Order: sequence, then structure tokens, then C-alpha cells
Amino acid sequence: MKTRKFIYLLGGCALLLSGVVSAYVLLTPERTWQSAPTYIVDNRGNSTIADNDRGATATVNAILSNDAWNNTDAGTVVHATKGNISSFTLGDGIPMLNFEDPTGACDGTCLAATFTGYYERQGRGRSRSYRIFDADIVTNTAYNWTSENEDPNGSGCSNEFYIEGVQVHEIGHGLGLGHTNVGGATMFPSVSSCNNGPATIEADDANGILALYGSGGGGSCELGQAGESCTANNQCCSGKCRGKTGNKSCR
Ligand SMILES: [Zn+2]
Repeated sequence: MKTRKFIYLLGGCALLLSGVVSAYVLLTPERTWQSAPTYIVDNRGNSTIADNDRGATATVNAILSNDAWNNTDAGTVVHATKGNISSFTLGDGIPMLNFEDPTGACDGTCLAATFTGYYERQGRGRSRSYRIFDADIVTNTAYNWTSENEDPNGSGCSNEFYIEGVQVHEIGHGLGLGHTNVGGATMFPSVSSCNNGPATIEADDANGILALYGSGGGGSCELGQAGESCTANNQCCSGKCRGKTGNKSCR
């Protein structure tokens, strides 16, 4: 049985080595999407996956599953749909899940990787927060992949990695989570072949999402959204209150 790592890029991998982490880890700085992103999942799939569409639908279903990120008290935090990703571009504001790796960033023990560096500051001072605007995912084609349709519950699986579990993990990065040291959690940094456990989130993972997107979390901006009236910059999520006096709105 092989164990391979997930990685995320431009994040804080060094946190893993500190030995003081006892639960979920949020990316630093803490960042969230202002509204649930819609991931375009590569409709080419991966040729090593023997199901109807080479794992594409399996991946969409896993992302949207009640076993994954949308079934916490934070509500729906991610959307996903199968589509053409030929316009794949890092940082363009369109989150895509690529079953290949045109960036060449994910090789060796990397199974898949999420580009977490595309966020921006909004607001000023105490109301400051960080908004994610893109978080593309790439996948290492050097591995043999499988899906629950090809190998239900591990039966028939041999030296393959489940696309569902790995991509649910990567989506966790895309939503603002780092790696936890809680074994068995989706955001644990490695997974064994033929183990689709990461497709089902654990309490630690759910707590991380709640910290970011739950009603008690600090991630969502409760200041003015674009178009809402304001009188000062610090009343707007964007930090930009523009217009003539008496008729200003957040941009
Ligand atoms: Zn990871």
C-alpha cells in the first residue's frame, strides 16, 4: 500500500512541522469566498478511471455530497458542475478542477494540488478580511485513479487512488482550509491507495468550515455589499465607498 501526499501551494506547509497543531488549520491569512464558488470540473476526466465519464461525474457528486462540505451548519459553501476547462487560467476568477496539471506544479508524491494564493484584502482596520477570488485545482496524471463506480468500497482496487476523496480534500483547500493533524480527517495531508475515506468529512473538517463560514465565523463580511449605500469606506466589504455625498454606495 502506498501513501501519497496532497499538497497545496502558496500556503503554510511549515505548520505541519510545528507539532502544536491539534485540530483543523485555516489558511493564513484567514480567507473566505464571499459567496459559494462554482467549480468547473474537467469533463475530460482521467483515462485510468473506468466509469461512465472517467471520474468527472463521480467527482462532482462527491463535492456536492451530503458526506462533504455542504452538510455542515454553515449551509452550502461550494457548487460544482461538469464542464469544459480549456480556458483554465490561474487567478482568472473562475475556479476549475483540472484532471491534468498544465502547471507542472504537482509531481512526485503530490496527488493533486490547489492554488490558494488568489485572494485579496477587503476592508480596512478592524473590519479587514480576505476574499478568495480563485482556487484552481490540478491533478497528477502519473497515478492510477479510480472511483466508487469502478471499485465500490475498495473492492477491486489495487494501487489506485480514489478521485472522490482526493478532490474533496482539494476543495477543502479551495474553501480556505489547511492541513489538520487529526488522522482520518479529510484535511489530513496524506492518504493511502484504495482509501476513499477523505470523501467523507469528519467533525474536525466540519469545525474548520464552521469557523470560516458558520454564523459564528469571522470569515464572512457583514459590511456593505456592492451597491449598498454607505457614507464611509469602512462600511463596505470592498473598502470602497464611492459616489457623491449623500448618494454613496459600496463598490
Ligand atoms: Zn492538502
